[in-house]
Amino acid sequence: MPISPGDKNMPRSYPIERVRDIGIIAHIDAGKTTVSERILFYTGISHKIGEVHEGTTIMDWMEQERERGITITAAATTCFWTPFGKEKKQDNEYRINIIDTPGHIDFTAEVQRSLRVLDGAVVVFDGVAGVEPQSETVWRQADKFKVPRICFINKLDRTGASFEKSLDSILKKLSPNALALQLPIGSESNFSGVIDLLTMKALNFEGDLGQVIKESEIPRDLAEKAKEWRKNLVEKIVAEDEVLMEKYLAGQEATVDELRMVLRKATINYRLIPVFAGSALKNKGVQLMLDGVVYYLPSPIDLPSIQGIDPKTGETITREASDDAPFAALAFKVASDPYVGTLTFFRVYSGSLKKGSYLLNSTSGEKERISRLLRMHANSREDVDELFSGDIAATVGLKNTSTGHTLCDENNPILLEKIIFPEPVISIRIEPKTKADQEKMGMALKKLAEEDPTFRIRSDLETAETIISGMGELHLEIITDRLRREFKVEANVGRPQVAYKETILGESEAEGKYIKQSGGRGQYGHVWIRVKPKEKGKGFEFIDEIKGGVIPKEFIPAVEKGVKEAKDKGVVAGYPMVDIEVILYDGSYHEVDSSEIAFKIAGSQAFQAAAKKAKPVLLEPVMKVETIVPADFFGDAIGDLNARRGRIEETSDRINLKVISAKVPLSEMFGYATALRSMTEGRGTFTMEFDKYEEVPHNIAQEVIEGKRK
Ligand code: GDP
Repeated sequence: MPISPGDKNMPRSYPIERVRDIGIIAHIDAGKTTVSERILFYTGISHKIGEVHEGTTIMDWMEQERERGITITAAATTCFWTPFGKEKKQDNEYRINIIDTPGHIDFTAEVQRSLRVLDGAVVVFDGVAGVEPQSETVWRQADKFKVPRICFINKLDRTGASFEKSLDSILKKLSPNALALQLPIGSESNFSGVIDLLTMKALNFEGDLGQVIKESEIPRDLAEKAKEWRKNLVEKIVAEDEVLMEKYLAGQEATVDELRMVLRKATINYRLIPVFAGSALKNKGVQLMLDGVVYYLPSPIDLPSIQGIDPKTGETITREASDDAPFAALAFKVASDPYVGTLTFFRVYSGSLKKGSYLLNSTSGEKERISRLLRMHANSREDVDELFSGDIAATVGLKNTSTGHTLCDENNPILLEKIIFPEPVISIRIEPKTKADQEKMGMALKKLAEEDPTFRIRSDLETAETIISGMGELHLEIITDRLRREFKVEANVGRPQVAYKETILGESEAEGKYIKQSGGRGQYGHVWIRVKPKEKGKGFEFIDEIKGGVIPKEFIPAVEKGVKEAKDKGVVAGYPMVDIEVILYDGSYHEVDSSEIAFKIAGSQAFQAAAKKAKPVLLEPVMKVETIVPADFFGDAIGDLNARRGRIEETSDRINLKVISAKVPLSEMFGYATALRSMTEGRGTFTMEFDKYEEVPHNIAQEVIEGKRK
């Protein structure tokens, strides 16, 4: 057994070259859950296959996920795999850590955070539908995070399924670098196995669960086609390597191992994308796709070393994926577990970690003791004593660590790049049903917010009500569902409301004066401020330009506080203002009467006066919407989107379907699912994601201001 250099007592059981940290990403319903379950079955962790429709999935351990049949939390699961044709022994076995990713668009933050920590991905497609809008969204995100990937075209047993058409849609819509490694044998209900185009063998899946792979000669009717496809495959691979290219041009055959090696490099460098065929439900092809994970997706040392910032010097530093390097890890998921409490999932980028040791959370600056280390398997957790570079694991009881925080060696601090989450766009008021619920609700919401960085809580200063915000209706629905189930809190919720914002378009100056001098000690606060718009997304900035002490230093924070409070209340319709610069440049004070409170009030008044004069406007979240309808309903769907103030950006054709891409204000999208369904006899589908905040047209803004529109 190989022993890692830095450690004499605790050998690592899998050298880092034999570790894969991957995710399975897919459009909802493409079969990700079924594929994941089959993986767990074949890798021997799961001994029984649970079907989705019976509600016994293994990965989805949250109750309502099962009911809804969607996967929300990014749990990490460890399993082991020996590729087909290799002798079963420790030296041939790989450790695969699967980071679960959700399929629903409301949870893109979850997708993003998981993409951040994984090294490679399997993208699952529905063999009937091919590339669907959400597959495109997820694909683009994977591009952003530079995730090497392989594709699995699933459901080839279904009527209407086509490997070639699906591959074609990948080539056209996602990447011209997709490359078939297999050809299916038979189609639809006769789909029985695949031809491996590298080894040129037919592989069939036998036994009740397809667990026995039988190798045979290629069926005669497919021989020609297989030859042709192999030629294309080999040409694409050898083009990636000079040595193989020379050999090829000299008429020499490259070996299967040589081809795999070059394809591996090309996949890791995003130059080629291997494509596999199968049917998870009918137990075909999943094992060979796992071989693909081993052969083509990177191990932690195949990728560039992670970079971060030295918190002391601000310099960029690198941590090698080596057990000897100083420890550095990123927390990517905080979950509350009914049995062990707070579970923090993290990915180790460098170094090793023994249980019982202390780490620095370089994001919060706090020290954390790592009392337990857990490796999560599908249906059990294993306590381990030590973790190594490339590992994905969990610990319990961390108090000051949230999603996106860096955990590191306290003597060698590093701050890894943060995960950036989108701002929530939708809010609802939530009210506990009883007094007992009230106390529990506060605690529960706080816990949920710690787990989920796109979920926010605030209280309305005027009505003392609690308002929760998130990424979409479904997101908030799931939160309130969890409140009830996991935390036993009963609450009434209001109608979903758009999270409007305000900003200014112009500059202006104003004075704020709070002076009361009627006998005894009075009040005196006096300021002059200037407000200016800032670039989109730049937030709020307060600049102190007071010279010569016309306002004493000790009162300046009070002015800032007053300005901030006024900014959060807005001046148009009571929504928080963003992207504003406030400059405090003049004022006066009184030796005796000046106080913090007087300056705070003056600051607040000055801001309101200035903002009102600076062309204040209301901003609303605008969503990127993609609607797919049968051609017959195209006109209706366009008309409807126009009526919703939608801007149609593009329309395109997809086998008997029309695809409409549009930008539509979120406030117009409530009830769209129902409307679309009834308009298209249930055949239309859509996806949406947040695009940006835009100015609300004047007449609509007026309705919002008058409270006619929420
Ligand atoms: P997810 O939403 O991506 O997790 O997809 P699921 O695994 O829940 O699958 C969605 C539906 O497709 C379920 O009803 C599955 O039984 C079904 N399904 C998954 N894989 C296959 C397959 O290979 N063939 C067929 N015919 N159905 C499948």
